[in-house]
Amino acid sequence: MKRIVVAGAGGFIAGHLTRKLKDMGCHVRAVDKKPLTEWYQVHGDVDNLVLDLTVKENCFAALNGFNEVFNLAADMGGMGFIETHKADCMLSVLINTHLLMAARSLGITRYFYASSACVYNGEKQNDTNNPGLKESDAYPALAEDGYGWEKLFSERMCRHFREDYGLTTRVARFHNVYGPFGTYDGGREKAPAAMCRKIIEGEMYGKDEIIIWGDGEQTRSFMYIDDCIEGILKIMYSNIEEPLNLGSDEMVSINQLVDIVEKIAGFKLNRTYDPDAPKGVRGRNSDNTLIKQLLGWAPSIPLETGMKKTYDWIKGEMQKAK
Ligand code: NAD
Repeated sequence: MKRIVVAGAGGFIAGHLTRKLKDMGCHVRAVDKKPLTEWYQVHGDVDNLVLDLTVKENCFAALNGFNEVFNLAADMGGMGFIETHKADCMLSVLINTHLLMAARSLGITRYFYASSACVYNGEKQNDTNNPGLKESDAYPALAEDGYGWEKLFSERMCRHFREDYGLTTRVARFHNVYGPFGTYDGGREKAPAAMCRKIIEGEMYGKDEIIIWGDGEQTRSFMYIDDCIEGILKIMYSNIEEPLNLGSDEMVSINQLVDIVEKIAGFKLNRTYDPDAPKGVRGRNSDNTLIKQLLGWAPSIPLETGMKKTYDWIKGEMQKAK
């Protein structure tokens, strides 16, 4: 039986990954610094540990006796968070560095690192008609200030542990992931969940206005969580050593995303635009040529299908809270 550590398991993506690995029959140790009551999902038959993985000794304790590691722990959030917490984002470098050191010392056989589309050069994302970012577009480096530079540095740390110490490392660059059991309020939420929440609030509390950051014409692609989990496993157990895009290539503007949520809700709001709010790059999409070529697979769940499931889950949570 595989003995696997999932770091950041109290969070959105790693909570889903933990369930999947458990269902596959692995023995899983789920680790997060948040108290268990704040985890999005707490699974039974899993060794749940609350540890701060920026601390080196905690990384050694977490990995002792295990074979493989998925590192999805990071201090992160949507644009509203990463543009205002650059030092906090960069301190996540301690998590990956100490986990790699522990992995090397304890003979871990395979190590996955969750990178991000925020590593890509900002100058290649100035147009809403982004043709898709290829893996090579990360260099020359001009990553998202703070969060993106930490991801790029940590990717390279994985590479050097592989080259110099023989540790098997795999890296995926996630493009916006969304789905149930994730953040939808509090300041760390990303656009899909934020739009669902704002429209549900409109319906629940009789508000008639939605505030959209920027002019709403900025573009992104959004990957549903089930595609993300499938892709993580495919990349982890592949022989692909270089970072690979893991994202949808169905690009939409934020205005189009709002159209989709309004259609699902059967409810429309008046749009007000806030030009001073954090907006991030102008246009971003995933180029999936390489992943298709290497794995014969790419994320394919349509945005509208995934958003319906996400909307229903957020609405259920908000009704419970009300
Ligand atoms: P999340 O915030 O829901 O989960 C991250 C978890 O890491 C949190 O539960 C947090 O408590 C935990 N964590 C933070 N610092 C820690 C520490 N010192 N020790 C232990 N745990 C700690 O985020 P997510 O959306 O699930 O993202 C998972 C990973 O994927 C992150 O590395 C993130 O940067 C990356 N990523 C996510 C997206 C996305 O759209 N969600 C996009 C690109 C990359």
